Amino acid sequence: MIIHFHPGKLGAKPDSLTRRWDVYPKEGDKDYAQVNPHNFRPVFTSEQLALSLRASTLAFPVLHTAVLMDVEQLHKDILSALPNDPIGSTRMSDPPDNRWTVDNSGFLHCDNRIYVPESNDLRLHVLRNTHDHPLSGHFSQNCTLELIRCEYTWPGICTYVKDYVKSCTTCARAKVLRHKPFELLKQLPIPERPWNSISMDFIEQLPDSSSYTAILVIIDCLSKQAIFIPTHDTITSPYLARLFLLHVFSKHGIPL
Ligand SMILES: [Zn+2]
Repeated sequence: MIIHFHPGKLGAKPDSLTRRWDVYPKEGDKDYAQVNPHNFRPVFTSEQLALSLRASTLAFPVLHTAVLMDVEQLHKDILSALPNDPIGSTRMSDPPDNRWTVDNSGFLHCDNRIYVPESNDLRLHVLRNTHDHPLSGHFSQNCTLELIRCEYTWPGICTYVKDYVKSCTTCARAKVLRHKPFELLKQLPIPERPWNSISMDFIEQLPDSSSYTAILVIIDCLSKQAIFIPTHDTITSPYLARLFLLHVFSKHGIPL
């Protein structure tokens, strides 16, 4: 096959196919659209745009109302749970100092914060409203604690909030990794023969059986053969060495 070069101006036949005046006019994109209206259509239909607009304008009022309803229900639950709570009932009937007060609505306050009883997962609801709610932003441990302590309190609130935020899966997925990238797993060397490499472990604090309270488990890393030796929780190093001599080295030799 021979390929001959032809200057562009002589390419009349390709031009007639690729440079059609009705498809690619010289005047620009606008004219192209006018000539080929079937190639153009809007990305979103007018119905989709209307729905999107409605969703964006109504989203905030709906969410805001949802928060208010959640808080209202939470306060009702707190009021109904207070008489059955040991701390709540004691402090309400006999406030020990000025830190504890009862307001006109019946809420028990500690340092001007509403006391949340430990019943019906009320503390969990407070936490969810502050941390997980669509209008909240999965704040950090300290921020969540600060937001809750603006209004609510209960004993051990710091640990409770920190444990909850630490266990939040959404936060864990979004958290930036601050350690070095993990390396590939390295396989342990394969032993050349059985009982060349062994591992040992104790099963301890078992019920007394013929004066034995523990089991020494010795496993061959190649064949996975196991030896179970009865022993005691108070086993000493010399006695352990004796067990090895008696049950392992005498039968399988010393590992190399
Ligand atoms: Zn979170």
